[in-house]
Amino acid sequence: MVETQTKNQLRSQFLKTRSQLKRDDWQSKSTLICQNLQSFSVLTQAKTVLAYLSIQNEPNLHQLFTNSQQIWGFPRCVGQQMTWWEWKPGDPLQTGRYGILEPTTDANIITPNQVDLILVPCVACDRRGYRLGYGGGYYDRMFASPEWQTIPSIGILFDFALLHELPIEPWDRQLTYVCTERQIIRF
Ligand code: ADP
Ligand code: MG
Repeated sequence: MVETQTKNQLRSQFLKTRSQLKRDDWQSKSTLICQNLQSFSVLTQAKTVLAYLSIQNEPNLHQLFTNSQQIWGFPRCVGQQMTWWEWKPGDPLQTGRYGILEPTTDANIITPNQVDLILVPCVACDRRGYRLGYGGGYYDRMFASPEWQTIPSIGILFDFALLHELPIEPWDRQLTYVCTERQIIRF
């Protein structure tokens, strides 16, 4: 289980660095990420996009969700799976598992056949498109299923967390793109 230990070590290292970002720096880097996405055709041409509501200094994507052309979906964690629900600023949210804000079940559910693009929060990513998450395997399980597998994904992270090569395990899936405050890379 050397690989798992290494993943855990990397997780705590990158989470620590991210937690130490000053609020202004976090917000200005987040704004740059949003601007990169807003001028990226893969996003602008997408109609329905799945995203996340930032916790623990994850890049804040909130400005994408206001006055946008897109329908946005956010997850609710149910057991080992995520289900996806439509949400726009002003709609109610409740605190779910891991302290993550979630749409309520009054919202419209979103099924994979509606989804054009998925923005995936990352603790770190490597230059092959492999992702390090919080260790729950939620996105790996999602992308393992055929209906989700073919949908383009963009890993979202700050540039300091983009590294050469992460340890990977058989279930880890490659993202289609990553976006940081400095660049968008296609794999
Ligand atoms: P993360 O991707 O969040 O960084 P890991 O890659 O370490 O986390 O995966 C966490 C756990 O998720 C693993 O212990 C693995 O057993 C489980 N997992 C990942 N993908 C699948 C899958 N397709 N089916 C069942 N379990 C999975
Ligand atoms: Mg994984």
